[in-house]
Amino acid sequence: MKVQLQLETIPVWDGVKEGSECFICSLMKKAEEDGIRYYLSSAVMTPEVRVEMNRHGFCPHHSAMLAEGGKPQSLALAMDTYYEENRKIFSPLAEKVQSAGNSRKAMKAAEALFAAAHEREKGCLICSRMNERLLRYCYTVASLWRDDQDFRRALEDSKGFCLHHTEALLNIAGEALSGDDLLEYTKFIISLLMKNLDRVQHDDWWMTQKYKSENKDKLWNGCEDAQKRAVYKLIGEGRVIDPVR
Ligand SMILES: [Zn+2]
Ligand SMILES: [Zn+2]
Repeated sequence: MKVQLQLETIPVWDGVKEGSECFICSLMKKAEEDGIRYYLSSAVMTPEVRVEMNRHGFCPHHSAMLAEGGKPQSLALAMDTYYEENRKIFSPLAEKVQSAGNSRKAMKAAEALFAAAHEREKGCLICSRMNERLLRYCYTVASLWRDDQDFRRALEDSKGFCLHHTEALLNIAGEALSGDDLLEYTKFIISLLMKNLDRVQHDDWWMTQKYKSENKDKLWNGCEDAQKRAVYKLIGEGRVIDPVR
């Protein structure tokens, strides 16, 4: 049976109208900001949230964003309990290093400590929250493409999506569409991608030409940021890195 995901019609319609290189990127950057804000808010005072944070924590990227989030009190509290949990796990392993009689045993015990640390780093609560939204946004794009002709036309006229989110769109498409719809949508999404990769490359190429002296008086044609768009059109922004599985 197919999953029925909640539709996010309003943000997706607003997104397609914004005219960016990938509106899923914009929505996911917002989802990321919301996630950071949540885990730096008074939510961290509640025991359930702290238990969750102790168990799963955050990926290095989102840990760094929390550190730079300008909320020392909330973060200090969260980190204190996280360290406490670390201590319970690390201390017995650290003691094994101390009681080792030779270097081989000490190294092996140290490796076990780092293996536990890597295990601790797995899974990110902010990535998980972002992933829930990503699935709903991608599901909504497929549903609106099928049900709303105006949306389909707006999508055709848009700048499409980044390569990274194009994959996410097709990964979830089978939950919203089937049969001929799914076939047509898959072809549409891939042709939208290829057309817009060409456009971005052309913009990037024009930037290379603009640096030639004979072109210095010609117009930029909106290519002033083409080198950056060329990068983000591939890697996307607001990426989900390591959701809790
Ligand atoms: Zn994107
Ligand atoms: Zn993360």
